[in-house]
Amino acid sequence: MCGIVAYIGQREAYPIILKGLKRLEYRGYDSAGIALLNGGLKVYKKKGKVANLEEELQGKDLHSNIGIGHTRWATHGEPSDRNAHPHTAASGRFAMIHNGIIENYAQLKQELVNKGYVFHSDTDTEVLLNFIDDIQKNNNCEPEEAVRIALKRVVGAYVIVLLDRENPETLIAARKGSPLVIGVGKNEHFLASDASPIIEYTKEVVYVNDYEIAIIRPDELILKNLGNERQTPFITKLDMELAAIEKGGYDHFMLKEIFEQPQTIYDCLRGRLDATAGTITMSGVEKYAEQIMNANRIVMVACGTSWHAGLVAEYIFEELCRINVEVEYASEFRYRNPVINPGDVIIAISQSGETADTLVAIENAKSKGAIILGVVNVVGSSISRASHAGAYTHAGPEIGVASTKAFTAQLAVLTMIALTIGYKKGTLGQQRYLQLLKELEAIPEKVATLLQSVDQIKNLAEKYKDAQDFLYLGRGYNFPVALEGALKLKEISYIHAEGYPAAEMKHGPIALVDESLPVVFIATKDSYHEKVISNMQEIKARKGMVISVINEGDEQSIALSNDVIVVPEADEILAPMLSVIPMQLLAYYIGVARGLDVDKPRNLAKSVTVE
Ligand code: GLU
Repeated sequence: MCGIVAYIGQREAYPIILKGLKRLEYRGYDSAGIALLNGGLKVYKKKGKVANLEEELQGKDLHSNIGIGHTRWATHGEPSDRNAHPHTAASGRFAMIHNGIIENYAQLKQELVNKGYVFHSDTDTEVLLNFIDDIQKNNNCEPEEAVRIALKRVVGAYVIVLLDRENPETLIAARKGSPLVIGVGKNEHFLASDASPIIEYTKEVVYVNDYEIAIIRPDELILKNLGNERQTPFITKLDMELAAIEKGGYDHFMLKEIFEQPQTIYDCLRGRLDATAGTITMSGVEKYAEQIMNANRIVMVACGTSWHAGLVAEYIFEELCRINVEVEYASEFRYRNPVINPGDVIIAISQSGETADTLVAIENAKSKGAIILGVVNVVGSSISRASHAGAYTHAGPEIGVASTKAFTAQLAVLTMIALTIGYKKGTLGQQRYLQLLKELEAIPEKVATLLQSVDQIKNLAEKYKDAQDFLYLGRGYNFPVALEGALKLKEISYIHAEGYPAAEMKHGPIALVDESLPVVFIATKDSYHEKVISNMQEIKARKGMVISVINEGDEQSIALSNDVIVVPEADEILAPMLSVIPMQLLAYYIGVARGLDVDKPRNLAKSVTVE
């Protein structure tokens, strides 16, 4: 979602903020802006890329040791120069950036309009800013006080950072529901939506909590709650390297992240899975193992690609643990008054750990007595903190907007949880348990082998890049992979694609099949294989172009396919971690062949922090 960056200290703020905004570009945005104190409050903003803003500012005197910067992902009002942040208060004293949504902005705006305020943008942000400004003027109080009073009336989610013309030595920030990290340097502080703009300056960071206000000076960081009580800032040491968030020689982050998967899956298993000793160590899960084993049901709550990981996990948990599993879109689950009984287990899956719908869904479920497990990539993120326990996916920062390595890491974590619970519960016998541990341990190596066939997929992308539509079909464990394949293609190439259970295809999508329709079958050898072959026949009989993802030596599929992609064999439970890789690569290379910005597809945001 949008990004915020701010600096206060001894250095020039502008280059730090500009670079920080560029680092946050991966989150997706539509406009950018910066405010500095340089002989008064100076605000510069521009629709489009950060580079446009940079170009416009060339040659200007931008000297300042304090400043705030923003990349906006519009929620209230179209993307435009006028709606871009920072916004300026009516008094001219404050500039403010904001990530999130002020839900009761219309009511607050009406109150301000009645008092004679005139608005220069359509944003909820400008309303909140003027609300703060109004309180400050009326009470003649410290801005910190005005922020506190204002936020007590605000309904919604926000991170705000306020720059005050009268206080060139102080920034004020606050958060509820959107992320804020403060980097602590020597006589300086760095603020950002995540650690990537901060890491090259300092590794000491403070994660601000919900309902906290931060008063930040070069040499001082004060945290207070909305009741004006001092909180102790908890300093955490970042353990990621800047190199981890740069492209590392690949053309795009997405390709880099696809190729990182042997390592990321390995990192995810490392220290947890020991196939020789026959053990899995996941302390968070073990703590709640009894409750999970005895749960009447498990509900997977997620959005997008993470939801597909949840679907694969449904098949795995039901098979290995014999527990009823439901997979829910977080956005539906949170609003439809679901039946949740104490003792239900909710598994929240999110790459960023900030997905707004998932976060609220688990908070609702928690209040009804459910146990929440988080499967999250970003350490310290809101979902991880709102969960009773969980397991990080350890896939490293995922910059490409389309999720790849986070998905396979989610599958690895969810599989380990199912193995742990199934074995403890006795629904998974020892022999099969040990066999699956061995097979899981071998997955990173198999992914590495599979990635060697990348040229072949590149050629396929050239061949099929002009297709208008794609159909993706699979059954069983590979059905969610079909959904994920279609989603990846849509996101990256803008080609319309649908994923379906291969048999269900007869109930509608078969009408689309003709000689111009590529149909991707995920047809690795598993208990559904014969059935998938029949579905392939059905497509072939209607002249569809069959591209099949198969295991070596599958002559039946080869005979029916226009093209095949061979992936290493694996137990059917683990097969999605392999069969999804060609889906990612096909989408990537088709996107590149069509000349598209694969790392930042249009209209999409990386971390969806609004509902
Ligand atoms: N709601 C604000 C706006 O539309 C902030 C959006 C954002 O998070 O970028 O300007």
